[in-house]
Amino acid sequence: MDRTAMVKVGAAASASVCVVFGGVALAQYIVAKKKRAGKKTKIIEMMPQFEKPTVHMRDPERVEQIICGLIKGGASKLQVITDFDMTISKFAVNGKRCPTLHNVIDNCKLVTEECRQKLLQLKHKYYPIEIDPHLSMEEKYPFMVEWYFKSHSLLVEQRLEKHKLPEVVRESDLVLRDGYEQFFDRLHQHNVPVFIFSAGLGDVLEEVISQARVYHPNMKVVSNFMDFDDKGVLKGFKGELIHVYNKHEGALRNTDYFKQLRDYSNIILLGDSLGDLTMADGAPNVENMLKVGFLNDKVEEHLDKYMDSYDIVLVKDETLEVPNAILQKVL
Ligand SMILES: [Mg+2]
Repeated sequence: MDRTAMVKVGAAASASVCVVFGGVALAQYIVAKKKRAGKKTKIIEMMPQFEKPTVHMRDPERVEQIICGLIKGGASKLQVITDFDMTISKFAVNGKRCPTLHNVIDNCKLVTEECRQKLLQLKHKYYPIEIDPHLSMEEKYPFMVEWYFKSHSLLVEQRLEKHKLPEVVRESDLVLRDGYEQFFDRLHQHNVPVFIFSAGLGDVLEEVISQARVYHPNMKVVSNFMDFDDKGVLKGFKGELIHVYNKHEGALRNTDYFKQLRDYSNIILLGDSLGDLTMADGAPNVENMLKVGFLNDKVEEHLDKYMDSYDIVLVKDETLEVPNAILQKVL
């Protein structure tokens, strides 16, 4: 065989290899497509909000099943249990951190500069512990109690006045996630019980949602409420302390609330901390529970754990678009 003929044979051979490999690739593509078509995620696929790059799911088919269960149950079986700080409120706007409920007070003009510095020092000491992925919740627990006790004592020393809270909230940078009106208004329209369970400050929380005009009668707020003397001056805090890692105990203290709602056996739970996953521990009769977690900070370190724990993880997503899309299907 001369050189030209060899080249021709070689070319023909590689062309047929291409055809074979092309065929394999095509077959693989078809199988993959069929597999995808066979997957039962039709409801999810109908919601374009799930296509956003912020949406992460370990098991979309399981999510689909839960959403199916929620749709079947409709409004009469649904209740919502949600955290507030960094779940209903935004974590950041244009890269700038937004305040928590506690920060609204820490940063307000009623607090002296000296007190603010002390509160900041406490934050620098304890916040890294709160989000340390190498410590268990049990290990963090005593530090959280210490942080709350010290910061609440500092606030009591400031003799804050109750009647000044509305102004403090109006002047704060706390922002609710985009879509919050639609979220709370739809739940109100369908009379879905909403349990807001916050380790923040209840008085500030209620003022925020009142000013945003979304504090409806279907909502119950469980949080740390300030105790004022008869002149309206802060003298302490009411009831048992709720911090990020004892929501389980708080949930069990509210078993009466959950018992009343025992027919509301479908739950949508929203949180941004792994501690929030225990918020539904007081619910006696759960049929379907969809856990939606906002992952706002240290994404790489936490994503795996969040995807193991939450059904849907929303990474650096400052909106309620996905929960709203689900509610639109369910209600
Ligand atoms: Mg939170």
